[in-house]
Order: sequence, then structure tokens, then C-alpha cells
Amino acid sequence: MATQDEIFKKLIAHCKEYGFVFPSSDIYDGLSAVYDYGQNGVELKNNIKQYWWNSMTLLHENIVGIDAAIFMHPTTWKASGHVDAFNDPLIDNRDSKKRYRADVLIEDQIAKYDEKINKEVEKARKRFGDSFDEEMFKQTNARVKEHIEKRDALHERYSVAMNAMDLNELKQIILDEEIVCPISGTRNWTDVRQFNLMFSTEMGSTADGTMKVYLRPETAQGIFVNFLNVQKTGRMKVPFGIAQIGKAFRNEIVARQFIFRMREFEQMEMQFFVRPGEEMKWFEHWKQFRLRWHKALGLGDHKYRFHDHEKLAHYANAATDIEFEMPFGFKEVEGIHSRTNFDLSQHAKYSGKKIEYFDPELNQSYTPYVIETSIGVDRMFLSIMCAAYEEQQLEGGDVRTVLHLPAVLAPVKVAILPLTKKDGLPEKAREIMNELKFKFKAQYDEKDAIGKRYRRQDAIGTPFCVTIDHDTLTDGTVTVRDRDTMQQERIAIAELSNYIDQRVNMQNLYRKLMAE
Ligand code: ATP
Repeated sequence: MATQDEIFKKLIAHCKEYGFVFPSSDIYDGLSAVYDYGQNGVELKNNIKQYWWNSMTLLHENIVGIDAAIFMHPTTWKASGHVDAFNDPLIDNRDSKKRYRADVLIEDQIAKYDEKINKEVEKARKRFGDSFDEEMFKQTNARVKEHIEKRDALHERYSVAMNAMDLNELKQIILDEEIVCPISGTRNWTDVRQFNLMFSTEMGSTADGTMKVYLRPETAQGIFVNFLNVQKTGRMKVPFGIAQIGKAFRNEIVARQFIFRMREFEQMEMQFFVRPGEEMKWFEHWKQFRLRWHKALGLGDHKYRFHDHEKLAHYANAATDIEFEMPFGFKEVEGIHSRTNFDLSQHAKYSGKKIEYFDPELNQSYTPYVIETSIGVDRMFLSIMCAAYEEQQLEGGDVRTVLHLPAVLAPVKVAILPLTKKDGLPEKAREIMNELKFKFKAQYDEKDAIGKRYRRQDAIGTPFCVTIDHDTLTDGTVTVRDRDTMQQERIAIAELSNYIDQRVNMQNLYRKLMAE
């Protein structure tokens, strides 16, 4: 059995080999934590974005979209707190010369205690069978109690240090916990320093003088500064939302795990403006809706969980992550944050403009509170690929690599395959292709044996392969092969479009999402 680590490496290789994701500027050996999407990757990515965009703006009458610029007035980032507080604590190991996030080193240490605890619990569960009482075990088993105490103490100390951004204390924790560098294995650490994650550049020619501008580290601020524009021109009534999809940039200290942590990435964010005092109700609403949105894709309900934040960002009064089970553990894919009226108030203060909403029902003006849902397109992409990738053992000892992508998201929906290159089969196949291509992303392929062509489509996750054979010419039917079951059925050409449509149409997903 391959380890999760090996499977992940294979997935990365697969993404490159089949045109999903390439390292950026590959011929120059890549650029760290920057990636390009290939011919199949871009289709999958566009489908993810479409699913999100429509779930927000089609299914909700009170949500509209915008597309704000990446560059924003620099005061935006002063007001939002990013200039002063968008920092990560970094630490270097003097022997390996490797750089780490101090918070990540400590969180990994906490995770190690959790692992130890879980291991003991699982061992005991096996031993005691049905009569096992986990809570009782945790309270009474001496070894587990000790691990839990150590974990909780560390956690408490870490939370206090992070909330106060006490850099000396963070270093002391690393020393006290005897955390070593995974590369050098030593504890030869530098002091912990603050590192701002925003990229900056200069705008304007030197003759006019230049202005330092930032590449936005989140898309949200483009929504906040347009709050009044959209509310007034769209005659929006609270509660309402503004959605946006766009690039964001962060100079991440440690770029790891492929497209999980990138320096240039894409976000899908929606800011939902509500009456002060109603934010918790809406926070709960969006938590549930967003989880349903993920689960509707059918990747497996057990792969998701909420993770509530203990350390809240300076602007938040509640926050949770939706985590997905990647090969390297449960990881954040989406954040849902109750941001209070922090952002709008800050922009009002820094711009000198009044940013308020007059509520006709209450006959009063206020600064709306905000619930944010923020998801990374690339992380979503990665989670789908991780769940979809399988090296499947077939009868007879064969192995096939297949991507069980949700059919609605698959880059290519249908492959059109004439059984042979002669006897008029290619012409018939072209005829079918020319009809289907108006509706579905279709791919025509006549090269190599049919089995080989099926494998090529399996590897990019095409849900349906249509084979045109000699019978097609006489009875007007084709064979449709299902990617997951590999079952084939005979279908009339006239029914083909409907057959595929029923299985790949996003409308069905929207209905499912709204029905629950
Ligand atoms: P992390 O703790 O992993 O750095 P974060 O809590 O800073 O993430 P948010 O600021 O809440 O992330 O951003 C919202 C979403 O944007 C995340 O859930 C994630 O999907 C995505 N995202 C954030 N940073 C990156 C990145 N460097 N690369 C890819 N996606 C990212």
C-alpha cells in the first residue's frame, strides 16, 4: 500500500502529466509557490468558479457580484489593518538555513500530542470493543491524562502568546518544547521576527513621483470600499451580499504542499451585510449553507469538518473554517467569519466618508455588520483532485488511474471515439461531435486501441465515452461507457444529448442545494 505522502506525490505528477497544473515558468525551473493551470486544469477551475458564482448570484436574489481591481488605494490597507497587522511570526534554523512560521511549528507540536492521544484511544477501543467509553478512558488512563494535560497547557500558552503577539514567548515555547528543525534536526533557532505578507510595488513614473501600492492580499476589501456604490446603484436592502472572484497575493513564508499554499492564488469571497445584532443568526446560516455546498458535490460527507477559531482576528467576533481531509490531514479550504462592522467603520474613518445604511423598516441608520464566506479556488481544486484520484486495481491484475471528478465539474464531459479509423466511422463520429459540442465540452479521439483511449479519458476524469461502431451506421445507436463503473450501455444517438445533460448539468446541483 502506498503511503498518503506517496499518493500525494503521484497526484502532483499526474496534474502535470495530464495538463492540470504546471509549475510557473517551468522552462526556467519554476517559481516557488506559483503555478499555472493547463488545458484541463483551467476547465476544472472555471467549473468550480461557475458553481460558486451561480450558487451565490443566481440562487440568491439578494446577492450581486462585482469585479474590483487588484490595485487599490494604499490607504485601504492602512484602514483594513493589513499594513500594521498582516504579519506572520517567522523563525530560522541556523544550521539548515530553513525558514519556518513559529506558529506552525507550535501547532504541529500540538498536533503531535493529539496524535499520541488518538493512538492510545484507538488502541483501547480495539481492546475493549463495544463496551468502550472514550470519555471515561480519557479521564482515567494515566498516560493519556498526561498527554492531554501537556497538550492543553501548551495550547493555552500558545494562545496567550499569539493573542499578544509575544515573539519572545513564541521562541521560548519552541525551546521549551524542544522542537527541532525537520531538516537539520537541531534546536539552533534565531529569534522570532514579524514578517508582513503583502507584496508591494510602485505606481506612476518617477517624474511624477511614485506611490507605493500593494497587490491585494484578499479580495474582501474591494467589496467593502464599493459597499455604498453597490448598495445605492443596486437599491440593495439589508440583508444583502456582494460576491467576488479574483486573484490575491501573499508573500507566504513557507510555501508547501503544492497549490495548497501559493503566493499568487484566487479567492471567491462573499460579504453579507446584516443588521447589527443579527450577525450570529446569519453566521450560523452561512456556515450551514457553505457546508451543504461542499457536500452536494458528493466527494464524501465524512471528509468535511468545522474547525472553530480560538484566536480571532482583530476584526472578528466569530470564525470557523471548513476543513477537508487532504492526504496531509484535515486542512482549511474555506473560512466563515463574522467581521462585525470593523471594515466599514475603518473605511469610514480613514476616508472621511459616511458609510451607513438607512433601514426603512427600523427608520434608523447604522453601519451594517458583515458575515464573510471566503474560499480559495486553488484549495478547492486541490481538495477535489485529492478526493478524485485513484489508482484502481482491476480484475486480471491491470491498474488504471482514474479521476472520479464530480461529472458537473469535469473538464471534458464526453469523449467521442470511433472504433476504427475506416468504414465511415470517423465521419459518423464527427457528425455526433459537431452536434454535442454546442452543449458540452467534447473531445474527439481516433488514435490507438479503444482501451488505451478509455484510459486517457479516465486519467482526466471524463465521465462519458461514446463509441461509434459498425452497428451505429445501421441502427443509429452508440455505446456509452461510464467512467466509474466502466459499464457500457447502448443508446440511440437521438437520446445522447439528453442522457449526458441529465448527468452533467449544474442545474441539478443547484436544485439539490436549495432543496435541503
Ligand atoms: P492559512 O491559515 O492557511 O494561511 P488563512 O486563514 O490566512 O489561511 P484566509 O485569510 O481566511 O486564510 O483566506 C481565505 C481562504 O483563502 C482560505 O480558506 C484558503 O482557501 C485561501 N487561501 C489563503 N491563503 C492562501 C494561499 N497562500 N494559497 C492558496 N489559498 C489560500
